[in-house]
Amino acid sequence: MTDYPKCPQCLGENTYFDGTTYVCPDCAHEFMPQTEATEQEVDDVAKDCNGAPLADGDAVTVIKDLKVKGSSMVIKQGTKVKSIRLTDNPEEVDCKIDGSGIVLKTCFLRKG
Ligand SMILES: [Zn+2]
Repeated sequence: MTDYPKCPQCLGENTYFDGTTYVCPDCAHEFMPQTEATEQEVDDVAKDCNGAPLADGDAVTVIKDLKVKGSSMVIKQGTKVKSIRLTDNPEEVDCKIDGSGIVLKTCFLRKG
C-alpha cells in the first residue's frame, strides 16, 4: 500500500502509521495525519432555523422578537426581510430593515 502521505520533512515515501501518528523511518520524523478539509465547508454554509441553506438575496422571516444591539429598535417576530447578504460568519447575515443595515443571527430566521 502506498497511500500513506510523504514525510513532510524529507519527502520520503517509506512512511508508516503506528496507530496515532505517521512515522518516517528515513529521518525518524513523526507527523499527524492531515484532517480532511472538504468536510469543513459544509459547516460554513449559512442555514436558517430549519437547517435550510441560505444564499445572497434570499427572503427570510424573523421568527422571534429581536432587540437591535446599540439601539432601542426591536425587530418584530414575523418581520419579512426581502434580501439578505451572507457574511464571513455562517451564523450571521446582513440585511436592511427600514433602511438600516442590520446583522441578524441565522438561527432566528426562516427562509421564505
Ligand atoms: Zn522523513
